[in-house]
Amino acid sequence: MASSGFHTHDHVKCVAEALGALESYCQTEGLKFTTLRRRVFELLLEEHKAMGAYDILDRLRTEGFSAQPPVAYRHLDFLVAHGFAHKIERLNAFIACTHIGALHDPAFLICRECRTVSETMSDSSILALHHRASDADFQIEESVVEAIGTCPDCR
Ligand SMILES: [Zn+2]
Ligand SMILES: [Zn+2]
Ligand SMILES: [Zn+2]
Repeated sequence: MASSGFHTHDHVKCVAEALGALESYCQTEGLKFTTLRRRVFELLLEEHKAMGAYDILDRLRTEGFSAQPPVAYRHLDFLVAHGFAHKIERLNAFIACTHIGALHDPAFLICRECRTVSETMSDSSILALHHRASDADFQIEESVVEAIGTCPDCR
């Protein structure tokens, strides 16, 4: 599966696979695959850019959905909770996950100019962090690496 927002990849296939994964997940889990749920995910996938809840709302409204803020948050939280999206704390925004179905500690490369986010799986740095944590007798529940910089297009 395509893993980067910075490199060219077969995006049509990438969107189709991600939507397909969400659809079958909803089926298996007995969850509704509503038009709005699908659309919110599709918007996140569109350009692999971080989008805030209000960006999503604006788009939904221009498309004729009468969505209120809680609705956008509910769908975004759903996607995050089920592993289809991640929250980028630094930007207070969301991106579609590009490693759907894989258990991973994501690391994000965030372009501060265009807000394109590339998701990579951090391994060695996370491992080091876990070692430090166990030295300090600290239990990590979740760790997210967010790196800010500029992407090739914006340099
Ligand atoms: Zn893509
Ligand atoms: Zn991910
Ligand atoms: Zn950029």
